[in-house]
Amino acid sequence: MKIRAAISRSGEAAPVIEEAELGPPRSDEILVRIVAAGICHTDVRAHRGGAVPTPHPVVLGHEGAGVVEAAGSGVMHLKAGDHVVLSGSSCGTCPSCRENYPSYCREVIPRSFGGSRMDGSSALSQGGAPLHGHFFGQSSFATYAIADARGAVRVSKEIPLEIAAPLGCGVLTGAGAVLYTFGLKAGQSLVVFGSGSVGLSAIMAARLAGAQQVIAVDPLPQRRALALELGATAALDAASENLVDAIRAVLPGGADFALNTTIVPQVYEASLRVLGMRGVAAFVSAPREPFTTSLQTLLHGGRSLRGLIGGDAAPQVAIPMLLYFWQQGRFPMDRLITSFEFSAIGAAFEALHHARVIKPVLRMGAP
Ligand SMILES: [Zn+2]
Ligand SMILES: [Zn+2]
Repeated sequence: MKIRAAISRSGEAAPVIEEAELGPPRSDEILVRIVAAGICHTDVRAHRGGAVPTPHPVVLGHEGAGVVEAAGSGVMHLKAGDHVVLSGSSCGTCPSCRENYPSYCREVIPRSFGGSRMDGSSALSQGGAPLHGHFFGQSSFATYAIADARGAVRVSKEIPLEIAAPLGCGVLTGAGAVLYTFGLKAGQSLVVFGSGSVGLSAIMAARLAGAQQVIAVDPLPQRRALALELGATAALDAASENLVDAIRAVLPGGADFALNTTIVPQVYEASLRVLGMRGVAAFVSAPREPFTTSLQTLLHGGRSLRGLIGGDAAPQVAIPMLLYFWQQGRFPMDRLITSFEFSAIGAAFEALHHARVIKPVLRMGAP
């Protein structure tokens, strides 16, 4: 079928919307009419190439939400007409998949970044030439997508898909870090470095879980103000001198948990130095350049440092739960979103890259 898709080509500033061809779903796939798709920094990096080695030309997008048009013969949990949020792609049979940690599937790298299905084929083509796709099992910067059914989560039709879309990656990562990776309990404390969509989602989840103190650290005053509205109990300027001392002044015994959503090397170090005894620091992206640290901080105090993908969450459980909290007004993730028409994808990429918006969401059309 003919679709409109935003195609990333090497050297271009942003993806360009063009006509493309989309093949039918296989037995474990669904055809989805995309209604909305969030843009994540991983899309921006994959578009630019380099750090995220997805082959070009490619259709990116991994926070898609839409309506199922057709389901493959092997898909049991979805049917035409269902509203879905698309998360990542996973094999379903490896140890992590069996334990419901699909973001640690042993095939997660080729399934997310390989630019094709695992057999090398692509549902996308253009003028007879193959086009890379299946980015995170979806490639949702398009009017229609062939998605990996395992990663598609059915959601209530009462929930606007534009609100639900970012749950596929960014919001789930931040909230999941608090609820699953840290397992934060009432009365505990958290420091969040960076108040973008991941950091603010962590802050909202910390309030939900009953955190006593939540310190937001960000260089932008408007983001610190939003962090305070969404549940932070203190907000500090990332540029302040002696930032670690300033955090320690608020939390003299150190924090139970620290979440680093940045790629700034010094922040990885700071996230360890603010921890209390047995504290856990986690990060969601690799540092932009390597850094060195003394492991003394980890040894004395039994602290740990964790990398995490997808917030350690099981999307089929966590996404409906967070949407339920959103409906109750207890997880106001709509506050993070700025909408853009699909045709304005270039402006949306720019706005995200320059931190003018927190979570841009493209609107492909009404459900
Ligand atoms: Zn992402
Ligand atoms: Zn797997």
